[in-house]
Amino acid sequence: MIIGVPKEIKNNENRVALTPAGAKELVKRGHTVYVQHTAGEGSGFSDDLYTEAGAAILPTIEDVYGIAEMIIKVKEPIEPEYALIKEDQLLFTYFHFASHEPLTRAMVESKAVCLAYETVEKPDRSLPLLVPMSEVAGRMAIQKGANYLEKPLGGRGILLGGVPGVLPAKVLILGGGIVGTQAAWMAAGLGADVTIMDVSIPRMRYLDDVMPANVKTMMSNEYNIREMIVHADLIVGAVLIPGAKAPHLITRDMLKIMKPGAVLVDVAVDQGGCIETCKPTTHENPTFIIDDVLHYCVANMPGAVPYTSTLALTNATLPYAIQLAEKGWKRAAQENAELVPGLNVIHGDIVYKAVAEAFDMDY
Ligand code: NAD
Repeated sequence: MIIGVPKEIKNNENRVALTPAGAKELVKRGHTVYVQHTAGEGSGFSDDLYTEAGAAILPTIEDVYGIAEMIIKVKEPIEPEYALIKEDQLLFTYFHFASHEPLTRAMVESKAVCLAYETVEKPDRSLPLLVPMSEVAGRMAIQKGANYLEKPLGGRGILLGGVPGVLPAKVLILGGGIVGTQAAWMAAGLGADVTIMDVSIPRMRYLDDVMPANVKTMMSNEYNIREMIVHADLIVGAVLIPGAKAPHLITRDMLKIMKPGAVLVDVAVDQGGCIETCKPTTHENPTFIIDDVLHYCVANMPGAVPYTSTLALTNATLPYAIQLAEKGWKRAAQENAELVPGLNVIHGDIVYKAVAEAFDMDY
């Protein structure tokens, strides 16, 4: 198969959909890989590394879309790319269709085949191509939180791990899924006093088994949250209710009972946030303060660490990309049921119910 890797053109997107190692795997199997000039640069991969791996470099995005049977990307195509997409071309990337009507209509019109990373699903209902980004964001949440707790950055001036003779900071994590678990490992490793709140008893039982002694679990409900936020130095929002907006577990009035200079990192901001006062921010302008509480609500946290994020994402996407290249999308989906829910649009038809429903379109 002829595979194309365009350079991402969305603002501040430095990830790339295929590493030189991935290119080598595809070339080894007899496929042809075209990478757009400087596509890997933002993640630290030069054109030379791709050519050494057996890929060919093309100068423009038009060249890549023009020749490829399968396009592998990171972000959804944006407007300047719509016209480049060809009938029958297979696009394997994040789409997040349900929140973007113009994109959905453009992909229907293109008559391409759109296989979305975010809806590829394992039999246990986990989403293997979303997990790596949650892992990155969870670990980053503590790095960012620790940083913003420093006085010059607006925090209350407390070191997460304390020092001998001085108590460590208290970290409260709302939601003990992928993001929450990774955040807890990082905070615990730095020596903080960590509490994870969740509504799932089996999940908390598991966390209690695997976490070190400085991590405790507690049932998430309004009473307990009010009690805990009074003492918290850093709070990480990591709640997810699949397919729904995140519940506001910390409401505006609750900020008044928190410590001045406490830090809120609402990772769930991409689903509306689990802290009422959170609004999406950017890496250029990541924080704001309300009632003396510092808020960090960047909606694409992994974008700040493109090297790690690219490797984490491509580790997960490459096995599927290989199947698609070897078999074509139809047979790959027949032989691997995980790919079936990934199919969102096929030759002008929407085949993912929630997307059709979101815009009252035919399914
Ligand atoms: P997950 O499904 O693995 O975990 C969510 C957890 O929330 C589950 O354990 C669930 O039981 C728990 N939960 C549900 N209701 C709760 C409640 N009322 N109180 C406490 N816990 C509750 O999800 P995840 O992969 O960890 O993702 C968490 C959020 O982070 C999602 O919204 C995801 O989109 C977001 N995310 C954001 C970024 C970013 O850059 N900002 C990056 C990756 C993921």
